[in-house]
This record gives sequence, structure tokens and C-alpha cells, in this order.
Amino acid sequence: MPNPSHFQDENLLLSNFYQEVWIVCPSCSKKAMATVNDETKTARMFCTHCGLNKETAAAIDKNATIEMPANQYFQAELWLQIPFKNEVFWVYNDKHMAYLERYISATIREHKDRTHFTLLEKLPKFYHEAKNREGLMKIIVKLKCK
Ligand SMILES: [Zn+2]
Repeated sequence: MPNPSHFQDENLLLSNFYQEVWIVCPSCSKKAMATVNDETKTARMFCTHCGLNKETAAAIDKNATIEMPANQYFQAELWLQIPFKNEVFWVYNDKHMAYLERYISATIREHKDRTHFTLLEKLPKFYHEAKNREGLMKIIVKLKCK
């Protein structure tokens, strides 16, 4: 049985979470969604609270690579963000948060070969520090209830 506080790096990239971003609705300030569809090459922003629905062309290259997070097409603010000390803890969506939660809560962190491209390697220092573990976990709990 794997130890629950054991984290194995999946070498995910930040771009793995670009496709669906939780945002603050620009018209009603509630939780809305921005998505990128790599087949239709469109970005969409929609809100189930007020009915906002916008679509625009997305920059997607021939390898179906999504070049920027969905929220950036609409300059929309991230829903999942909270200030932490002089920094800001933020994530694009629930899956991104779950990945960081597993990393932050782990007391044993196993990394594969360093590539300098993974999202964990690119995280600012405060995410990695053991002394911040408890504070960051509190933020994650708050964001889950948001
Ligand atoms: Zn709305």
C-alpha cells in the first residue's frame, strides 16, 4: 500500500490545465468557466448564474497545442486564488488544485529527472517550503468551499 503522504511527481505541465479555467464572471462576479476547444479552435467563457456566454478564436498550433490558459482570452480573473504572505496561491481548476494539494501535503516528495519545465519545478519557492505546508493546506480547504 502506498503511503498517503508520499508524492510521486507526474511531471505535469502548467499547460496540462489550460483547457478549463475557473474564473470570476465579469458580469455577475460569481464562479464562471473559460474553456478552450482544440478541435474547433475556439475559446469560450460562460456563466451558469447570469447566462453570460462569449466565444472567440483560440490560438492553437498544428500539434493541437493550447498556447495559453483559457481565461487569458477574456482577461478574466482566476476564481481559485488567495493571497498567502506576500504571494498569491492560485490554480486554474479543481484538478490543478488536487495535484498541488497532493504535493504540498506530502512529507516525502519523489521527483523524476529534472526537466525544468514541469509545473512543480516552476512553482515559486514558498510552495515548496515545509514551514508553509499548514498555511497552504488551510488555503486549499478555503478554496474548496468557495
Ligand atoms: Zn455571471
